[in-house]
Amino acid sequence: MNAIDPIIRIENVYKFFGTLKALDNVSLSVNPGEKVVIIGPSGSGKSTLLRSINRLESIDRGRIIVDGKDVNARENDINAIRQELGMVFQSFNLFPHKTVLQNLTMAPIRLKKIPQAQAEKTAMTLLDKVGIPDKANVYPAMLSGGQQQRVAIARALAMNPKIMLFDEPTSALDPEMIGEVLDVMVKLAREGMTMVVVTHEMGFAKEVADRVIFMDGGVIVEQGTPEHFFENPEHPRTKKFLSQIL
Ligand code: ADP
Ligand code: MG
Repeated sequence: MNAIDPIIRIENVYKFFGTLKALDNVSLSVNPGEKVVIIGPSGSGKSTLLRSINRLESIDRGRIIVDGKDVNARENDINAIRQELGMVFQSFNLFPHKTVLQNLTMAPIRLKKIPQAQAEKTAMTLLDKVGIPDKANVYPAMLSGGQQQRVAIARALAMNPKIMLFDEPTSALDPEMIGEVLDVMVKLAREGMTMVVVTHEMGFAKEVADRVIFMDGGVIVEQGTPEHFFENPEHPRTKKFLSQIL
């Protein structure tokens, strides 16, 4: 028997928007420490899948279990489950009227009752980790997109999550800033974080992904190692998609 229990279990999930089937019998398990990259054309259900993991979307059928807890079960506290899940979006979503440091300390102080001095100490360590310790006291508008996204990553990490979900974290960035954000994500991956990353940065996938998932039309069409996708993708839809992005 395998001793490892998946930390995320997505079982036969369906999601409809009206008559549109955004997720069509999706099943996916992620082991602790595993890095999964999800690729696929626009509208294929990648964001819906990611968002349903922390119940930003409800699902119509199936089950999603995070760290042993069914995220859609009424008896489970979704806020407690969400504390285990850090999420980083394409748009950085920082609080504009808070400094960088306040962005990082707000949730730990309010939701985890961490003393302010301790929250600030952790925040400074995280800003150091993402390479911008000198930006603690500025407002987000003073930062470049790449810096804002690194703050967003640090803010998610400040809650000490077990899993990090990234939804196209570099898609809104100017090309010269993509590398600095991916570098932080690679570092996080090396430290053993469990990561589910929607991205078309195949260089990143090649460097860190244990598994790549290709979605199309709400379905997981194909999955395998990054090498599999580079060397011999099987499904015609996968080949077509890869020929467009590589
Ligand atoms: P992706 O992230 O792969 O681009 P999405 O998960 O955002 O795809 O969307 C999957 C499908 O669901 C698309 O057809 C999209 O238009 C539709 N969709 C997503 N969110 C909503 C919503 N809130 N209301 C209606 N349709 C939606
Ligand atoms: Mg999306």
